[in-house]
Amino acid sequence: MAKTELLIKGPIFGCRMCGNCLLQETAFICPMECPKGMRNGPCGGVTPEKNCYVDETRKCVWYAIYKRALKTGREEILLEVLPPLDYDKVGTETWGDVVRQVRRIGTKEFIGSFFLKDKKKKDEVWDSVFKTIRQPEWWKGDSQYHSKPSAEPASDLEKRLLNGDFIIVTEVTPPLSAKKDKLIKDIESVKPFVTAINFTDSSSARPKMSSIACSSVAVELNAEPILQITSRDITRTGLQATAIGVNVMGIRNILCITGDNARIGSSPVSSMNLVDIDSVQMLWILRRMRDEGIYLDGRTMKVPPKLFLGAATSPFASDPVLQAIKDHKKVNAGAQFFQTNLIFEPDRLDLWLEQLDKRGILDKVYILVGIAPLKSYKVAHYLHTKVPGVNLPEKILTRMEKAGESAPEEGVQIALEMIDSIKNKKGINGIHIMTLGWEAMVQRVVTESGLNPPTPLKGG
Ligand code: SF4
Repeated sequence: MAKTELLIKGPIFGCRMCGNCLLQETAFICPMECPKGMRNGPCGGVTPEKNCYVDETRKCVWYAIYKRALKTGREEILLEVLPPLDYDKVGTETWGDVVRQVRRIGTKEFIGSFFLKDKKKKDEVWDSVFKTIRQPEWWKGDSQYHSKPSAEPASDLEKRLLNGDFIIVTEVTPPLSAKKDKLIKDIESVKPFVTAINFTDSSSARPKMSSIACSSVAVELNAEPILQITSRDITRTGLQATAIGVNVMGIRNILCITGDNARIGSSPVSSMNLVDIDSVQMLWILRRMRDEGIYLDGRTMKVPPKLFLGAATSPFASDPVLQAIKDHKKVNAGAQFFQTNLIFEPDRLDLWLEQLDKRGILDKVYILVGIAPLKSYKVAHYLHTKVPGVNLPEKILTRMEKAGESAPEEGVQIALEMIDSIKNKKGINGIHIMTLGWEAMVQRVVTESGLNPPTPLKGG
């Protein structure tokens, strides 16, 4: 049966026999050819030509799925949070499960649904067959928003956002060695000016001091960390263990990201087939741990972790309509705050914000916009050409190039202009200053941005 299924589904749908079929939800295009193993929508790396940034010779499979779903009026089904693979099933057929479900609802009714003109009815019949297959008991994914049952904030960051404060966060670059002097110096230097500090998780797929270690140093220094976890480097077991472990260390803010693909990282390139969970699944798992006190396998825990959950978003990665669908899904899965990719075209943000508003999620998620003071033309050019989802308009590139030796000053002025054009937009709750290793500039950018002087961090 498995061989027959592959022979038929392979050429028609690009099926890879994952044994956990989602075709009905993914506009009948198999998502398994995505090199990042994304099962819940595109990453932020689609190229302007809609190709995959990991392998630019191929079209982004998720872009194709979204386009077809929009064309056939099935985009809302894309909001359903889909489970990670059950590896017991990988390589096995799903037709046996389908036949059992068809028998359960009645073969006649199922065949009759092919001829139904009423789309809603047709979808109901199909869902009664396929939903039980793609949503096993241990996952129970849906397309609903789940508000947090407790109003108690998990962290200072959540508390201040709840208060309606306009927030400034930044990031400190993790060290490349086992020495923490510079890390301490950088944390101390930015701490008085921000509410929380991001620590990246081996950005660009190159190893550095772990985000957990950096976050724990921040806690020791009475600074509030935002722990970044990439799905590239973690399994479902590791994620759950990390969430409860870091909680007892005082780490409450977790940013769930997919992370850069191994192919753009250090050589020799590691396996790209080890992706166990994606960022949407991370959010879903952590939200259920926090709100329902359960592990993925259904075991309950006496003391659930206190978490403030965030996600990354790349407003300009693809069409804002498509990006908003993915962001909507993240909010439904559990994202309480977004940190955007670097923004250099504030006006373009409006289209994306409009789409979030249309979807009714602008008031369900806090948005912190990524801003970077550019240190040189080389940095500007690198971001524009090498970093997926980041686009610098020609006029900014020209300004940086013409500035010559004054490029760092020009970069700060550009950052201040960005903050000025973004801070009053509806739906924006703060700024994320991405230092790109230039932590010394945080004080100046915050002080000169005209934002309210930041209130001290706890203990600060
Ligand atoms: S661009 Fe991202 S989502 Fe699209 S196929 Fe490539 S890795 Fe997957």
